Amino acid sequence: MKIAFFSTKPYDQISFTAANQHHPHELVFFEPRLDPTTVALAEGFPVVCVFINDELNEETLRAIASTGTKAIALRCAGFNNVDLQVAAELGLAVVRVPAYSPYAVAEHAVGLILSLNRKLYRAYNRVRDDNFELNGLLGFDIHGKTVGVVGTGKIGLCFAQIMKGFGAKLLAYDVYENPDCLALGATYVPLHDLLAQSDIISLHCPLLPATYHLINAESLQSAKPGAMLINTSRGGLVDTRAVIDALKSGQLGYLGADVYEEEEKLFFQDHSDRVIQDETFQLLQSFPNVVITAHQAFFTREALANIADTTLSNIDDIEAGRECINQIKPQS
Ligand code: NAD
Repeated sequence: MKIAFFSTKPYDQISFTAANQHHPHELVFFEPRLDPTTVALAEGFPVVCVFINDELNEETLRAIASTGTKAIALRCAGFNNVDLQVAAELGLAVVRVPAYSPYAVAEHAVGLILSLNRKLYRAYNRVRDDNFELNGLLGFDIHGKTVGVVGTGKIGLCFAQIMKGFGAKLLAYDVYENPDCLALGATYVPLHDLLAQSDIISLHCPLLPATYHLINAESLQSAKPGAMLINTSRGGLVDTRAVIDALKSGQLGYLGADVYEEEEKLFFQDHSDRVIQDETFQLLQSFPNVVITAHQAFFTREALANIADTTLSNIDDIEAGRECINQIKPQS
């Protein structure tokens, strides 16, 4: 099938071209993201392949459906950027990659914890500057601390397994209890209790209407003073202004974020020769106890290969008219 890829980078072209040796599709790579201003590029392509920050709103969906697109292949797990109701009305199939490497994201979350706790970003710069002073680099043992896992699906479970290896006590919050997480010794508690007791809180649930701004001024009030918040899930889970206030007051001791609510205007692009206009982001990254990475938690060789293979297999199913297990439909 002829597939128009949007928001592509050189690494997408490499991984998809390699995987396509086993799937004879015609791949056309575009750099711009798909949104109402770029829909013309999709004309005549039965499939568009998109990533997390492409904008599949009603306007985009109506435009691509009117010019021959039949399916949207998300090369990611999250699908909060697609209006599923409108896609269903237009008969557009939406498929995704529900799992490609939970290890990649869980390990990055742990990387953020270690970076913040042991101040590795400061230490790196100090040593390069021939400054071997330790003042200001004091961390804490993770062993014996309480780690709260919000969302215990594939990534949350993997994260919990790693934290168990550190010797942490595990608390969990989810709408469903995961038996594998219980088997690790995690205790499921209400969100309020998890926040109140955890030294480290890590978010691994999807962005849904129910989870939008799960971390807000009120929930931060119930957090253990000085706790560390890690968000490798979606920016919209966190009210950034409330987090800034909590960081300023000391209620929140650290923030590690791989995602940001307004990230589509910033991430995956080089802004180093421009002045960033997002004052909230600028303020956030000015704190000494904040580490932000630009949505790179998924970014491992293994994950890219799995993403490409599953995406093209999903498109094989669509082409053959087979049921695709990775198709997503609006909740009734
Ligand atoms: P998953 O579906 O396996 O797990 C999600 C868990 O969240 C499930 O156990 C589910 O029951 C739970 N959940 C749903 N609604 C909830 C609610 N209201 N409150 C608490 N828990 C709730 O998904 P996963 O593969 O573990 O991925 C988790 C999230 O990680 C994705 O939704 C995505 O947003 C994010 N993600 C980020 C990156 C990255 O590069 N930063 C990469 C992949 C995924």
